[in-house]
Amino acid sequence: MIERIRILRDRIEQACSKCGRSPEDVELLPVSKRQSVDAIREAVDLGFRSFGENYVQEGAAKHLELPGLCFNLIGPLQRNKARLALLHFAEIQTVDRVDLCGRLTRLADELHTERGVWIQMDLWDESTKAGGCPESGLPAIFSELAASGLLKVHGFMAIPPPGQEAAFTEMALLRDRWQQKTGLRLRLSMGMSGDFEAAIKAGSDQIRIGTALFGARVYSPSRSS
Ligand SMILES: *Cc1c(COP(=O)(O)O)cnc(C)c1O
Repeated sequence: MIERIRILRDRIEQACSKCGRSPEDVELLPVSKRQSVDAIREAVDLGFRSFGENYVQEGAAKHLELPGLCFNLIGPLQRNKARLALLHFAEIQTVDRVDLCGRLTRLADELHTERGVWIQMDLWDESTKAGGCPESGLPAIFSELAASGLLKVHGFMAIPPPGQEAAFTEMALLRDRWQQKTGLRLRLSMGMSGDFEAAIKAGSDQIRIGTALFGARVYSPSRSS
């Protein structure tokens, strides 16, 4: 893992220097879905404290084993798993529907729990199970989230179609528009192992890296969530 991280940091540095950004301005979120708890421990020994997980149940189980770490949900969230997600994830990056926002704000109140949330965007009409909302969905989502003092909007998350670099730029422009409209500081979470250089160039603040950091995903717990 040390060697993979060295190569990864090199790639990040190169991508940053090409566009005049500082590597400190790009947060590296390790994605530990379908990686073992031991692999996460190894990453912790190398300095990481926050991890991205796709499946609510898998992330909750890992949080119970490693309660000192922060887990971020980066996979789709069903309403019936919202409570479990709020209990075990420090941040939820896949908020993309008003009904889900309403459920999360009510539960956060009930649990007296403060959480970071990111709004997942889909500007490319992928209509895949990966989720995401179009820009027209944002006014209702922002107003629902603003009603809660406990859910803080950190920014936008996106999984643009592979190979479409312009998609990252579209996201950066959307971020600028909504920062102006809302007066909030909004970060961008975009870029994965295969495309993070283009995401960094477009201005991504957080890249979510699985395989380039942990290697191939081998471990297969219950994937029911
Ligand atoms: C799996 C996953 C990643 C990491 O993917 P890699 O290609 O392994 O880096 C990042 N973001 C999301 C939403 C994912 O599901």
